[in-house]
Amino acid sequence: MPPTTLLIPGPTPLPPAVLRAMNRQMVNHRGPAFGEMVRELLDGLKTIFDTTNDIIPLNATGTGGLEAAIVNFLSAGDRVLSVNNGSFAERWAAIAEQYGVRVDRVTAEWGQPTPLAGVGERLRADTGHEYRAVLVTQSETSTGVLNDVRGVRQALGGHPALLMVDGVSSIGAIPIETDGWGVDVAVTASQKALMSPPGLAFVSVSERAWQAAERSSLPKYYFDLRKARAQIHGTLPGTPFTTAVSIVFGAHAAVGLILREGLPKVFERHRRLGRMARAAARGMGLRTLPNDAYAVDTVTPILMPDGANAQAVSARAREAYDVVIGSGVTRYLKFELIRIGHLGYTKPEWLLAGLEALGRSLGDLGHPVDTEAGLVAARQQLRLRPPRARGAASNAPNQTGRANNDAHASAAGARPASAAGD
Ligand code: PLP
Repeated sequence: MPPTTLLIPGPTPLPPAVLRAMNRQMVNHRGPAFGEMVRELLDGLKTIFDTTNDIIPLNATGTGGLEAAIVNFLSAGDRVLSVNNGSFAERWAAIAEQYGVRVDRVTAEWGQPTPLAGVGERLRADTGHEYRAVLVTQSETSTGVLNDVRGVRQALGGHPALLMVDGVSSIGAIPIETDGWGVDVAVTASQKALMSPPGLAFVSVSERAWQAAERSSLPKYYFDLRKARAQIHGTLPGTPFTTAVSIVFGAHAAVGLILREGLPKVFERHRRLGRMARAAARGMGLRTLPNDAYAVDTVTPILMPDGANAQAVSARAREAYDVVIGSGVTRYLKFELIRIGHLGYTKPEWLLAGLEALGRSLGDLGHPVDTEAGLVAARQQLRLRPPRARGAASNAPNQTGRANNDAHASAAGARPASAAGD
């Protein structure tokens, strides 16, 4: 295959150290050395999730992790509240409905953030505490919206529903405080910010969620997280069934890279990539779907100018410039926007190449934009010094709903650290 610049919101390119780690002979997945590797991987993930809760690895992609969350902590007939403002939130709600869970949706237009007031209203009205869980997608990859998980926790107040978070395109790239925000169940997958191939899902489970698991009557066998819990607490941590050994090799290396770089730097690197993509779009005279105030720093959906077909633009970028950018998901957005993924192992220069390919492709197809102005604006973000000392939580929107991650930095100085693994 020709060398391409891969800028989709997962799978992401793999750091060379991850590729090398996977280029290994098979081992006994029940042997001591592999058990130690699983233990280190899960401990590293606890740092990334910011939790002391159990983290359960599953042979699955993110969707499998989301399904596991439904079947382990809920029962048919239970009611849940789902914050729905994009296609991944809708998918999780649909999974729950497949299992006979009754889903009430609090919706916002696609591209708009969590309607916190609506969430609070529904929860306050539920005086009988019928809702067993609230489902939120932290980074809604279909629209590039950052949903305010901490705000949803605040809206829950004393309501006993579990807080369950889809962190598939966020965990490891932007902050989550699983324990600090009281997240009972958080799900991610290996192929996004965790810079590994697709194939593993990771689910963190609070003590309250384990108690709910005892009451859950939905059918499960392979995805029964209690079996997995028993295994990881055994003398030799492991998995109940044969695990995806090579992906564990890769994820172990990748998590090591993330921790060596340090989470604050990883988060800052993603913030910078997000700012670059948004600045470039604006410089070219294009619009991003969500407002900067709640734009997530892992994927940037850019609306195409009138008359331009997003599918044709991404095909042109691929064929003429060897750049692979994501298209819109679902029929509604498919032709209207492209999505540039910039999470995990994505270097600023790759993003610049992708943005240039986007501008040129539009021009090639008869929709000229000011590509150079876009690139200048993106490079300007590279030269900006990171805004001063930010805590791990600073990427989440604050109480006013305005994300801190886009506060404008003052000009001068330092180039950013390059992506992990160099
Ligand atoms: N949830 C979110 C927010 C996602 O971005 C994705 C994939 O892009 C999924 C769920 C589904 O994950 P997977 O494709 O790994 O099953």
